[in-house]
Amino acid sequence: MQAVQFSEHGDTDVLEYGEFADPDPDDDEVLVDVKAAALNHLDVWTRRGLPGIDLEMPHIPGSDAAGVVESVGDDVSRFEPGDRVAVSAGVSCGHCEFCRDGDPTLCVNFHIIGEHVRGVHAEQAAVPADNLVPVPDGVDWEVAGSTSLVFQTAWRMLMTRAEVKPGETVLVLGASGGVGHAALQIAKYAGAEVYATASSEVKLEYARELGADEVINYENEDFADEIRDLTGRRGVDVVVDHVGAATWQNSLASLAKGGRVVTCGATTGPNPETDINRIFWNQLNVLGSTMGTPGEVDDVLELVWEGHLEPRVRDTLPMSEASRAHEMLENREGFGKVVVVPDSEL
Ligand SMILES: [Zn+2]
Repeated sequence: MQAVQFSEHGDTDVLEYGEFADPDPDDDEVLVDVKAAALNHLDVWTRRGLPGIDLEMPHIPGSDAAGVVESVGDDVSRFEPGDRVAVSAGVSCGHCEFCRDGDPTLCVNFHIIGEHVRGVHAEQAAVPADNLVPVPDGVDWEVAGSTSLVFQTAWRMLMTRAEVKPGETVLVLGASGGVGHAALQIAKYAGAEVYATASSEVKLEYARELGADEVINYENEDFADEIRDLTGRRGVDVVVDHVGAATWQNSLASLAKGGRVVTCGATTGPNPETDINRIFWNQLNVLGSTMGTPGEVDDVLELVWEGHLEPRVRDTLPMSEASRAHEMLENREGFGKVVVVPDSEL
């Protein structure tokens, strides 16, 4: 088969699209004929190399894909050839204390398809049946292949961790990125009043289209000052921060007393200064979040399949242009998801 792959970590030029041994599914796995896949920032980190993660080379990147079941392993009963499926990339062991307690995202052996093990940016992928969800007829492959990771992440952040209530105020940073544009829609769906930041007027217009009540161009304005002005100095109840070092102090400064900041990543770096005085005096809550449970995945994907939430596709490229696709994420070009499709499907 043809697959996106790299044999060493580095810049986008380490990526190639070429011949790779056909996957050989285990008894608990399903062979998926990939129709569309999507990039996440995780793919950029994995390509550059993450401390503590030693990949088997060559590595196939990619955590999001959708396609048609080609064959199933002997132990698989949930799927059969011809079924339409999407990948949900979080893998848990099923038997540690946290899995047994019902939260596989806390699994001591938690890992992510594409980050720790070979991914799905290829013509075919062997995926554990537990990591597949059915896709109804009528859902576009681009939508099916670009939803799972960012929507489950944003759903858990807002609904499970921050427990957003109708009428609360939510600030979503970086609303043009995958998690940002999902969080914006979910906060709105939950009945919150939503503030969104982005770096250009075009991106802010998209954010408004998706439901943002107020938008802030963080290139021109200090977003914490702007939030204080917009909220009569009160601040917001919840900040969704996936940006990290560049925004952290302003995220805390944007919160109302008793507010919650929820983080799922740190694309600009993991070690910002933190004003602890602000945290205790204002009684702030700092919440971490990673991926979603199978139940959370079911809940949010159903809303996407029904059209209440939607991934925006900024561009669709052949997998042979994976380098360009990575570049679009690294340069923060455009709004929403970058989709890649096997060249043989175009
Ligand atoms: Zn476990």
